[in-house]
Amino acid sequence: MSGINANKNILIVEDETQISRFLQLELEHENYSCTTCADGREALELAVARDFDLIILDVMLPSLNGIEVLRRLRQTKQTPVIILTARDQVVDKVTGLDIGANDYMTKPFAIEELLARIRLHIKLAATQTSSSITRGKLSVNPDARVATYDGHPIDLTKKEFDLLEFLMQNRNVVVSREKLLDAVWGFDFYGSTNVVDVYVRYLRSKIDDVYGDTVIETVRGAGYVIR
Ligand code: CA
Repeated sequence: MSGINANKNILIVEDETQISRFLQLELEHENYSCTTCADGREALELAVARDFDLIILDVMLPSLNGIEVLRRLRQTKQTPVIILTARDQVVDKVTGLDIGANDYMTKPFAIEELLARIRLHIKLAATQTSSSITRGKLSVNPDARVATYDGHPIDLTKKEFDLLEFLMQNRNVVVSREKLLDAVWGFDFYGSTNVVDVYVRYLRSKIDDVYGDTVIETVRGAGYVIR
C-alpha cells in the first residue's frame, strides 16, 4: 500500500535532532525518501537545487528562519511546504500562509495527521493540471477529489464535494434543488429537497465564511448557481 510513496522525496528541515530523526523514521516507514537538514541557509540551497516533492519546514532554525527560507524559496519554486511551529507561535501561521506555505502544523503534532497532510499536498501538487475547474481562487479537482481556496485545501465531506463539483461543472447555470438532489443524492434518495439547502449552508460555512467570498448564489424560486 505504501509503495505509491516510493520515489517521493521529502526534505525535512528541523534542527531538533529528536524530532528530525522521528520524522525521518516515520516517513521512511511509509516508503518516502528523506533528506534531512538542520540549518536554514543550507535548507534553502538544497530546496532550490533539488526537486523535492514536499518540504517539512521548522520555523526556528539556525542561520535563516523557516519563514525566510520559505519567502526566498517562493521566488523561484512552488514545492509544497508544510511549516512546523511551536504551540505559541500563532503569528507564524498567518505569516507562513501569507507567504505561500501550503499548510502548517503545531508541535507537538500527531504523526498520522502530518502523514495525511503530506499525502494530500503531494497529491494536490501532482494534480495542478487542466483537469481542475477554477473560479477565482476556488479550485476543484474531480480526479483528485480535492477542493482548494487560494491554494489551501477545503475539508469537505463526500456529499459536500459532490455538490460543489456539480455546481462548478455547471458554471453560470441556475440549477434547481430537484436537479441537485438527483445529481448528488441520486434518484432513489428518499427525503426533502431541504437537504440541498442544508448542504449549501455547509459549503458556505466552509468557503464563504472562511474566505469572505460569495461562491454559491441563491436564485429565489429557482435554485443555486456558481457564476
Ligand atoms: Ca527549531
